[in-house]
Amino acid sequence: MEKICVAVRVRPSISEEISSGTYWRVDDNGISLHKIQGTPISGISYSFDHVFDESCSNAKVYELLTKDIIHAAVDGFNGTAFAYGQTSSGKTFTMNGSSTDPGIIHRAVNDIFHKIQTISDREFLIRVSYMEIYNEEINDLFTVENQKLQIHESLERGIFVAGLREEIVNNVEQVMNLLQSGEVNRHFGETNMNARSSRSHTIFRMVIESKGKDASSFGDYSSSDAIRVSVLNLVDLAGSERIAKTGAGGVRLKEGKYINKSLMVLGNVINKLSDGAKQRAHIPYRDSKLTRILQPALGGNAKTSIICTVAPEEVHVEETKGTLLFASRAK
Ligand code: ADP
Ligand code: MG
Repeated sequence: MEKICVAVRVRPSISEEISSGTYWRVDDNGISLHKIQGTPISGISYSFDHVFDESCSNAKVYELLTKDIIHAAVDGFNGTAFAYGQTSSGKTFTMNGSSTDPGIIHRAVNDIFHKIQTISDREFLIRVSYMEIYNEEINDLFTVENQKLQIHESLERGIFVAGLREEIVNNVEQVMNLLQSGEVNRHFGETNMNARSSRSHTIFRMVIESKGKDASSFGDYSSSDAIRVSVLNLVDLAGSERIAKTGAGGVRLKEGKYINKSLMVLGNVINKLSDGAKQRAHIPYRDSKLTRILQPALGGNAKTSIICTVAPEEVHVEETKGTLLFASRAK
């Protein structure tokens, strides 16, 4: 198992609040909580593979955290990149980006199409799918009618989501158009914290298949070892905030419970995977839909990164501590 690359990203402050007591200080790859007077608060100091401060662009995040995963995926290795964090901390900004600074997904798609053009001795077939997990139900974001899909497993296909639409794509624009139509179908809810908080996990998946130009046809796995198939997952997780803080009841409460449970399972799975000493330990993939779907792309020689996004404001300090704890368990 390759080491999981763990990064923290602090977004710029978006509230007028002036901190009265504490602030987060970023130096190099460390982040720590300090009193306004400057003294560090003991015990709340972490280091990660990368810590990105509020001035860091998506371009830099991509370069330092995700590019290797994307390039390895073209070479046949599975990969997964997660964005984890409370609502409004910058997960979607990181994955989807803005008009002036495209996010990880756009950059990955761009990079993949660019890279395969430079590989003249192989032919590529690229398929994409886009799904959300909302209250432990899997919905297809490309086809609204495809709801409550089931996870199946077969010898031939391994673990797969039955009925999920997969589109063969030939260029960046095609993928971006598909994503845009899928975005409209995402579930949004209102909480006290964010009017359009995302209550679901979304998985954008690319399956990259290639064969040597002299090999036989695609899909013919038996005849030639020159065929490679890799799966790349780009995952925007549901907000990690604890439900009490959002003042939620009813539907929101139910959503919160599912989110908390699946994020906890994800934490357990990642913790076990990154714990090299106990590699044979039971890994609880089956405890949530999210980890079950991602199972084939998480173990083995897959590459994984997690960007944990945090808000700098003092009002979010408890959630930020929780996110940093999650991040430190993933190391
Ligand atoms: P989340 O997906 O975690 O709920 P968003 O990505 O929607 O959070 O971010 C919340 C707000 O903060 C958005 O308006 C977004 O544009 C802005 N934002 C988040 N991160 C950054 C960043 N690194 N730089 C600039 N703006 C950001
Ligand atoms: Mg979001």
